[in-house]
Amino acid sequence: MSEELFKKVVSHAKEYGFVFPSSEIYDGLGAVYDYGQNGAELKNNLRTYWWKSMVQMHDNIVGIDAAIFMHPQVWKASGHIDGFSDPMIDNKDSKKRYRADQLLEDKISRYEKDGKTNKAQDLQAALDKALTENDLPALKELIIAHEIACPISGTRNWTDVRQFNLMFSTEMGAMADGADKVYLRPETAQGIFVNFLNVQKTGRMKIPFGIAQTGKAFRNEIIARQFIMRMREFEQMEMQFFIRPGTQKVWYAHWKEARIKWHEKLGFGKEMYRFHDHVKLAHYADAAVDIEFAFPFGFKELEGIHSRTDFDLRNHQELSGKKMQYFDNDIDEATGKPFGNYIPYVIETSIGLDRLFLATLCASYKEEEIGEGDKKDTRVVLSLPPQLAPYKVAVFPLTKKDGLPEKAEQIMNDLKADYTCFYEEKDAIGKRYRRQDALGTPFCITVDHDTLQDQTVTIRYRDTMQQERIPANKISEIIAAQTSWKKLLQ
Ligand code: ATP
Repeated sequence: MSEELFKKVVSHAKEYGFVFPSSEIYDGLGAVYDYGQNGAELKNNLRTYWWKSMVQMHDNIVGIDAAIFMHPQVWKASGHIDGFSDPMIDNKDSKKRYRADQLLEDKISRYEKDGKTNKAQDLQAALDKALTENDLPALKELIIAHEIACPISGTRNWTDVRQFNLMFSTEMGAMADGADKVYLRPETAQGIFVNFLNVQKTGRMKIPFGIAQTGKAFRNEIIARQFIMRMREFEQMEMQFFIRPGTQKVWYAHWKEARIKWHEKLGFGKEMYRFHDHVKLAHYADAAVDIEFAFPFGFKELEGIHSRTDFDLRNHQELSGKKMQYFDNDIDEATGKPFGNYIPYVIETSIGLDRLFLATLCASYKEEEIGEGDKKDTRVVLSLPPQLAPYKVAVFPLTKKDGLPEKAEQIMNDLKADYTCFYEEKDAIGKRYRRQDALGTPFCITVDHDTLQDQTVTIRYRDTMQQERIPANKISEIIAAQTSWKKLLQ
């Protein structure tokens, strides 16, 4: 059923202008996608929800917009040139490339499905050990021992496991000769670290404080699958929270709690989320946890919360020769003196906007049986939180004549500046309602002959399908109450 739901969501996304494969007329480009007219609106609204809750709602968090290209030394300092890689393995018959750890994780899931719990646990433990120790031969041995075959060729004719760096590079400058190799950033976080001093000084920020950013990141994923779950070009929304060393446990707990609440506010159900502690910590972290979401294909990472210590700022200080320090004149009760100079510690919250988009579509997509007897029907509805809906309201003249379109347009013009509006005059009203349900539009307004006489309209609500007669000058008030960001942010 879940796999079926996923297929439906993917085709709905295409059919209703949410997500298209990139360069589709040339048969697409692996794991790169474009957002269509409705997807772009939904994505903007999700980004706004994040930005408002992080930046606007916090006096001590500010937002920046750093460039995608950065000095190549940044990636040396961050550890990405030496360490940002995944273990890959090729099947010699199909010539297909896989992530060794993912082949093993799929096997664990299969053991679990078949009720072989012990086998699943043993393999999980062995996988964790091999990953922690970076033991590539051990990964291959596990693949052989558990008789994992290539899904394409069906054979077990594997190469050795090798490391594969995930960063894309290109050249900056005129000619290949003497041009500098630059990278497309694999995470937005480094744009924040290198601007730490700029922002702290110009914003007169006092620790603890945060810097937030949204933007594109690029990773040459070995295998990219599951639609917009794992892309080669994607968007991240990251916040680095700078703190006094020694307070990281408290702030880590704080952000874990704050972030899961942020997700839960969307109303998809608490049971859709869970925490998953990292066993193998990234090179920069002293604690890390994922917020996982119940996607139709299982619980998978949606957001990461990482205690990054002073790893990044310290390395940038060493490599750039610039002091990445903060002078803390608060008094340390233990010594009675100011805390003084130090390199701040960092708690990071990092979420993929595309994954959030996918989670939102999956959780909102519903097929409902409606009507009775002869009128029995099904409808597809996206029960999006109204703040996120691509269109807040659709306006329909009942017919194309008698001045109704003009009246509808007049009503729409009045709403346009504040709300995204959709206008449609083709087809029966029922059909028009269905189309808006499929886009997640929370309100439809129908203008009929009575409107011309008494200035009232019919408002129809997406979720209940109930209809009400209201004065036209009340529309804005009703939409405002339902789409206010306050409801999600307070
Ligand atoms: P995964 O284990 O799934 O590869 P990750 O642990 O490498 O993810 P992070 O480096 O912590 O991911 O990145 C933070 C967030 O960015 C992730 O939680 C995810 O939402 C998003 N993200 C990472 N890689 C991709 C990708 N290839 N496509 C889409 N979103 C991604």
